[in-house]
Amino acid sequence: MNLQGKTAVVTGGASGIGHATAETLARAGAKVVIGDIDDAKGAAAAGQLAEQHLDVDFVRLDVTDIDSIHAFRDEIYRRHGQVDVVANVAGWGKIQPFMENTPDFWRKVIDLNLLGPVAVSQAFLQQMIERGSGKIVTVASDAGRVGSLGETVYSGAKGGAIAFTKSLAREVARYNINVNCVCPGPTDTPLLRAVPEKHQEAFVKATPMRRLAKPSELADAVLFFASDRASFITGQVISVSGGLTLAG
Ligand code: NAD
Repeated sequence: MNLQGKTAVVTGGASGIGHATAETLARAGAKVVIGDIDDAKGAAAAGQLAEQHLDVDFVRLDVTDIDSIHAFRDEIYRRHGQVDVVANVAGWGKIQPFMENTPDFWRKVIDLNLLGPVAVSQAFLQQMIERGSGKIVTVASDAGRVGSLGETVYSGAKGGAIAFTKSLAREVARYNINVNCVCPGPTDTPLLRAVPEKHQEAFVKATPMRRLAKPSELADAVLFFASDRASFITGQVISVSGGLTLAG
């Protein structure tokens, strides 16, 4: 799975699954641009990977702000000319009973997890359409496939990201653009470590393979979809979650 000569954008690349994705795509030969709202962590992540002689840099990005997305895209085109792979990884959720969710919370969760991938994908698609190639991979969640107790709106947003992936895949298939989705289950990242320990234990118990995913295991699935090994695969959703979505 060689990405030599390709340029990849990874949103949310300063931490967790995004950071692992930036590293994995760069190790496969891609030039990688991390886009993240956290300047300090984003610059540190890119610096740490660059020290390992990987071609990674950082440009600030807020996926909930269309002006920020356009500035991000223009800066990357200025630096690298083109983008071959967009990995939509930035996302956020919080476990909370539905009746405690406020309208501000709904909007934040939907803006980040659903409209973020929508807006970032649209920003980079025009050039992909003109060039007749491109890969878009969105990291959604098993919550969007099978639901998740206490993550009601988040599940709705991630389910929306999955349906968006399938419909966009149909629309741009004629331009040789692949659009796919990777769904993590509970994965060992700062986001997950922020939830109470009893919830983390419940997540592990619900997982047939009885452990959390490693961020690199998600990154490997993103790499597969980003590579030419997945050239005839589009509109697909793969769970990397130790069997979490199996019935029973
Ligand atoms: P994380 O918190 O470790 O990393 C998320 C990154 O996104 C951070 O660097 C953060 O600064 C960045 N970010 C947040 N808001 C942003 C914005 N508006 N614009 C740009 N960047 C922004 O989280 P993670 O666990 O690595 O999660 C990555 C993705 O995987 C998310 O979409 C999350 O919903 C999904 N996911 C995670 C798990 C899990 O258990 N960790 C499970 C299912 C799905």
